[in-house]
Amino acid sequence: MHIIYPGSFDPVTLGHIDIIERASKLFDTVTVAVLINQSKRCLFTIDERMELLRQSLKDYDNIYVDSFSGLLIDYLKKRDVSLILRGLRAVSDYENELQLALANRSQNNDIETVFLVASPEYSFLSSSLIREIASFHGDVSKFVPEVVEKALKLKYEEG
Ligand code: ADP
Repeated sequence: MHIIYPGSFDPVTLGHIDIIERASKLFDTVTVAVLINQSKRCLFTIDERMELLRQSLKDYDNIYVDSFSGLLIDYLKKRDVSLILRGLRAVSDYENELQLALANRSQNNDIETVFLVASPEYSFLSSSLIREIASFHGDVSKFVPEVVEKALKLKYEEG
């Protein structure tokens, strides 16, 4: 079975990597699909976000990185996949994720969303927290892959 993990990944954190690694043991293939979101201002471009994911996941042969724009269900149809992977950190994620999962299924009854619960050591982690810490030149080495740490340093030096 093939599952798609959609998200912004701006940037990818060890929390995302943990979910992806665990899913790669449960499913034949996992595609991490980076959302091209015109309305949300991202720190990293779509190409940068995909490259950081590719480099962080290069040791896995059943994990792929792709991008999509528009509706997730249209992308799933195009790829002929009916499984969506999402991570749940806290109760606060649940409400939003439930709404998304129900909305997607209302469009297509065959779509199922599979949730993996965040590992406790990463359950407080979010991309926005990482951007915040990095913007003040704080230490993010415990929370992101090394390539992401380097990319954040470059971004905030440039800025
Ligand atoms: P989105 O903008 O779609 O929320 P994110 O990149 O923030 O995209 O997150 C993608 C998915 O990964 C979501 O299901 C989110 O709940 C989950 N996620 C984010 N951070 C973590 C984490 N630290 N541990 C587990 N899951 C996470």
